Amino acid sequence: MALIVQKYGGTSVGTVEKIENVAEKIIASRDAGHDVVVVVSAMSGETNRLIEMANQITDSPEPREYDVLVATGEQVTIALLSMALNKRGYPARSYTGPQVHILTDNSHTKARILDIDESRMRSDLDAGRVVVVAGFQGRDEQGNITTLGRGGSDTTAVALAAALKADECQIYTDVDGVYTTDPRVVPEARRLDCITFEEMLEMASLGSKVLQIRSVEFAGKYNVRLRVLSSFDEGGEGTLITFEEDEMEQPVISGIAFNRDEAKLTILGVPDEPGTAYAILGAIGEANIEIDMIIQNIAADSTTDFTFTVHRNDYDKAMVILEKTAKALGAREVSGDRAIVKISLVGVGMRSHAGVASKMFKTLAEEGINIRMISTSEIKVSVVVEEKYLELGVRALHSAFGLAETPAI
Ligand code: ADP
Ligand code: ASP
Ligand code: MG
Repeated sequence: MALIVQKYGGTSVGTVEKIENVAEKIIASRDAGHDVVVVVSAMSGETNRLIEMANQITDSPEPREYDVLVATGEQVTIALLSMALNKRGYPARSYTGPQVHILTDNSHTKARILDIDESRMRSDLDAGRVVVVAGFQGRDEQGNITTLGRGGSDTTAVALAAALKADECQIYTDVDGVYTTDPRVVPEARRLDCITFEEMLEMASLGSKVLQIRSVEFAGKYNVRLRVLSSFDEGGEGTLITFEEDEMEQPVISGIAFNRDEAKLTILGVPDEPGTAYAILGAIGEANIEIDMIIQNIAADSTTDFTFTVHRNDYDKAMVILEKTAKALGAREVSGDRAIVKISLVGVGMRSHAGVASKMFKTLAEEGINIRMISTSEIKVSVVVEEKYLELGVRALHSAFGLAETPAI
């Protein structure tokens, strides 16, 4: 008998009928003798609907009130799922995040989990009940409701699995595992039986929304066995996130991630002297705006140019700050572009294979796709290209690196 944490995402609980199907899946695990803690998201579209309502009132709702609002979506699904289980003779109890003491910091809308008191869940499990917990939410030290960022139910599930020392955390979603790239963009994408933790962390941080990045970080920190599975198909093994790796046995590239959420800003003709990078990027950082890629080019006239990317939602705010800095530094020009995307190749096998980046550049060149920025690390190569080339670029790379075929190792 094992203790399993199962998380069902928005599409999996998108209608009352689907919630009843989820109840049946949970019952199958109970009948197999397992203890089950379930985490659910809001019904698909619900969180967006709530945010749209807030935006009808104001463009910038107070973060505290935003959290009170968006946390309601999950409260609906925990209750309905518990009713569906109870009706079938499988006792269940629903809890909001605060009710099971998911304590977070006070960064509303992107709070981090600090602690979980698992005693209440334990006593329900001991009494033979299924515990159904609302994903995405917690409370801070003052008792204010907080939320964990979009996609945060994944993180709730992994955090509960860590706190309860569960045997496995199963993320049930609308695809049957982690694919070589988003199967909605490349229909030939292949499901991976397993992916290393390091690669999953890169894929998530580079834009693959199949798992929220913090859930992967949590799994790494607390050694949680994490699996992604379909809530609609029966019996598949899904994708296991593994901790062991043998680099020589790994395919060079495991997957392609992309991110449509970035925008880039450029400042031209600033003095090439100590303190310039700090003056430009420090001001952005102080406004709590995260910077992703950075490029600096030195011009022949001893001035320098900077280009950097930020989240698209932060673009306007970053531009205002950059224009101010440009005035102060006597910069020649400031420009920006929202219509960009980042495409990244990810694979731990890159460490022992040269030539990945040049093959990537060649493939994009053959498609006539201009690369605007490049950044590399040991296990990834990322490029920024115009948004209109996203699908073409990802498909061309997927085929050039033979990702649709099972690697012969
Ligand atoms: P949920 O509502 O269950 O949390 P999400 O929409 O957050 O589901 O995540 C599942 C989606 O992630 C899939 O429908 C798929 O389009 C997308 N996705 C992006 N990259 C990948 C990938 N590499 N493998 C599988 N799915 C991916
Ligand atoms: N309902 C939240 C969202 O849509 C959290 C989640 O689904 O994981 O972002
Ligand atoms: Mg999700």
